[in-house]
Amino acid sequence: MRERRRILIAGGGIAGLSVALAAAEAGFSPEVFEQAGRIEEFGAGLQITPNASAALTRLGFGDDLAERAYEPANIHLISHTGGTLWSAPLGQRFAQSWGHPYRVMHRADLIGMLSDAAYSHPDISLRLNHRAEGFATHAHGVTLMAGSPGNMDDFHGAGLIGTDGLHSVIRRWVVGDGDAKPSGYVAWRSVADAGAAIDPRLKTDVCVWVGPRAHVVTYPLRRGSIINIVAVTEGSLDDPGWNAPAEPTLVVRRFVGWPPPLMEVVEAAPSWRRWRLADRRPADTWGQGPVVLAGDAAHPVMPFAGQGAALALEDAATLGHFLKTEASVESAFARFRNARRKRAAAIWSFSRRNGFLYHSGGLIGFARDIALRGLPDPIMLDRQWWIYDWRPFRD
Ligand SMILES: Cc1cc2nc3c(=O)[nH]c(=O)nc-3n(C[C@H](O)[C@H](O)[C@H](O)COP(=O)(O)OP(=O)(O)OC[C@H]3O[C@@H](n4cnc5c(N)ncnc54)[C@H](O)[C@@H]3O)c2cc1C
Repeated sequence: MRERRRILIAGGGIAGLSVALAAAEAGFSPEVFEQAGRIEEFGAGLQITPNASAALTRLGFGDDLAERAYEPANIHLISHTGGTLWSAPLGQRFAQSWGHPYRVMHRADLIGMLSDAAYSHPDISLRLNHRAEGFATHAHGVTLMAGSPGNMDDFHGAGLIGTDGLHSVIRRWVVGDGDAKPSGYVAWRSVADAGAAIDPRLKTDVCVWVGPRAHVVTYPLRRGSIINIVAVTEGSLDDPGWNAPAEPTLVVRRFVGWPPPLMEVVEAAPSWRRWRLADRRPADTWGQGPVVLAGDAAHPVMPFAGQGAALALEDAATLGHFLKTEASVESAFARFRNARRKRAAAIWSFSRRNGFLYHSGGLIGFARDIALRGLPDPIMLDRQWWIYDWRPFRD
């Protein structure tokens, strides 16, 4: 009986852990296979938009979120020449319009919250140092091959969920669209002590600094004690560089001449890491029968709308709902795919358009700046209402 209810999950990131919690809540015994020896996240921030908060609340983290996340007061779009192009309040307006405030959170705090809950759940097993290498489907469900080199094993379950990220092994078998392609964007991330900020907006607000072929997003984390900095530039690096250490002077030099309040924190950031961002077009299929993809493995999106982790959390809440309400794992996975594909593809397009908007220079950039200066505060945010307006299914 237990065998029939076992769900195998390849990858223990935000998607894998949240899917495990949702599957356990639906009455299954999830087994998570994580290639790393520890569950941990890089020390930077995440924007938790109202849809991500709705999913986390559905997964039982409403109170933890209110305690551990930070609620920025405003958002500003600022030109690389220093002028503020557009500003809007976040606080009450968000909670009133979308049921949850706009939040930001340290990645380590989110992954810590999910992994603590998974470790202490009696029905969830976490297998570290277990890399998923392949699977076979059969009449009883699915068999996953996982382990470390020279020490591989077979694991059986009623279903397999591939949450092994952008370079997913499971996707290779399910979709067969090769590896993700370099996007031409490089992300650089760091955190600086909030004491370095001379402009008070950096200590309380989300600031998006835009200029030709680059943008920077800053926001406070951990009750405003540190400032998260994500810079995105164009031009691929030669090496794959995913979460690789980066020379601070490279970042400082790239943004020379940008507004002093930004440069104060960029120069104060002690260490940087860089990601050569890769992209995939939305896939027509996310699996079949007892195998399905979720999170970045199913639908990686450029980070320009802050929606990758949010989509993964929505996936978890949605999968949990169908695992609870459908008669079989296969029909739960089929309903999940149908419910999610259109939205993920729409957010993929939206995120790419945001990148274009942020990075435009010359005449297009000039036109963008004029248009933004003339926009009433709420219009830019209302462009995204459909993203924030997501609600979990009722069981
Ligand atoms: C610069 C940047 C900024 C971002 N900002 C935001 C933001 O503000 N808001 C937001 O919502 N999203 C943001 N995102 C996106 C977000 O980080 C990702 O969408 C999210 O982390 C995806 O989670 P995941 O669990 O699907 O994948 P991952 O985080 O990639 O986790 C995959 C896990 O699977 C493991 N794994 C991989 N292969 C295997 C295998 N074969 N076997 C076993 N384990 C395996 C990995 O070790 C990892 O633990 C940002 C991304 C970037 C790059």
